[in-house]
Amino acid sequence: MIHTLFNPTSYISTPYCRITLNKRGANEYTKISFPLKYGIYSEIETSDAILQFNLNHEIVRAKGKGRDWIQPSEWLKRSMGNDWIYYSTGGYTGVFEAIGEYYLPNLPYPTNSLIGGKPFNESAINKIISSWQEIIYKSLDSIKADSIELLVDKEKFINFLESALANNCATLQKKADHLFDTSGGRITVMPPDARHVDYDIIPLIISDGCLYKCRFCRVKSDKPFAVRSDREISRQIEKLKDIYDRDIVNYNSIFLGDHDALNSDKETIISAAKAAYSSFEFEKSYIKGCNLFMFGSVDSLMSCDFELFKALNSLPYKTYINVGLESADQETLDLIGKPLTSLRVEEAFMEIQRLNELLNNIEITANFIMDENLPKGHYPSFLGLVREKINKPKTKGTVYLSPLRINKPSREVLFEFNRLKILSRVPTFLYIIQRL
Ligand code: SF4
Repeated sequence: MIHTLFNPTSYISTPYCRITLNKRGANEYTKISFPLKYGIYSEIETSDAILQFNLNHEIVRAKGKGRDWIQPSEWLKRSMGNDWIYYSTGGYTGVFEAIGEYYLPNLPYPTNSLIGGKPFNESAINKIISSWQEIIYKSLDSIKADSIELLVDKEKFINFLESALANNCATLQKKADHLFDTSGGRITVMPPDARHVDYDIIPLIISDGCLYKCRFCRVKSDKPFAVRSDREISRQIEKLKDIYDRDIVNYNSIFLGDHDALNSDKETIISAAKAAYSSFEFEKSYIKGCNLFMFGSVDSLMSCDFELFKALNSLPYKTYINVGLESADQETLDLIGKPLTSLRVEEAFMEIQRLNELLNNIEITANFIMDENLPKGHYPSFLGLVREKINKPKTKGTVYLSPLRINKPSREVLFEFNRLKILSRVPTFLYIIQRL
């Protein structure tokens, strides 16, 4: 059941901790160097740590307060897929220019990031990941043992702590597995545009597979492209409501998956978007606005009925469609096994420019690859599009450069990225592949 009335904030202090229930965080995603926390959440603060919980009393963020914590403004976030992600400032050197966000998500699994350190090797970080349940136990003991006559009703704080304890590591992993089962598998990659909502998306899979099965791609599924039935999509929505439960008020965005949802028929896309909006009650979300993210491909974009874009443009969502172009150089496309011609890629790029001009509520973004060992025509052909085909700088139509190599930060590739970014006339950022 979705609760639309937000409970008031209340707190209790004991010698060990301070507990705040239903604390109000920011209600609008903002790009700011100050570490904002979004949504309504509850918090346990001790002299050593701060733990934050969503409205289902599942831990979602944590940070240490000791001297050994790397940086006071950095923190850990636990995703709905049950990954701990460490948000670092990168010393504020170039993080925003590189990824378009002030905080860099450091992921606990191999990915294609060019920047960031190895925070998961730090003992302070591992300590909090392994000891947060103990902090809840101690908080519960301190409330129960507290003999001082408190002016507030202890019961609701005890209930919160007991519920948070029930959401232990095993339970949280089970919930994540249930989410993966609901989607028909783990979301192996989220669109880069989901950074605008800190990747806080509800995944609704409307189709499976993709058109090309490119040789270079690490996230492709074996499934041939197929659209899911309306019945299956409705069933998924019901299960998602149960999974996100009371915390759904902290969400305002969906990801229509998986790898080429734009290739689905117009009716499926629009009806799924509308059904999600009403079922998840986005108009009552604590977070302002709402967003829809999906992937598209050159062929799904080029064969798309303009009526679909018009219909998407008129929905309450701000829609982001991310299209994998990869390269405008034929030798590179052949090398990576992407079955497209460079001419077709160029046509798709120009169509993206045209649509971005026409549609105020939709932004179509594009991905290109980066690597040290690509044919020499790759970067000039990239600049041929993002510089020569565009006569003045634009604020829309972001291009993401995605390093091909996993776990291979490279100064040379980062240097190349900075050079391309300076020359590009559209916003240009790095794409760090992130799963849900
Ligand atoms: S890059 Fe896109 S189209 Fe190519 S295999 Fe991967 S998911 Fe499919």
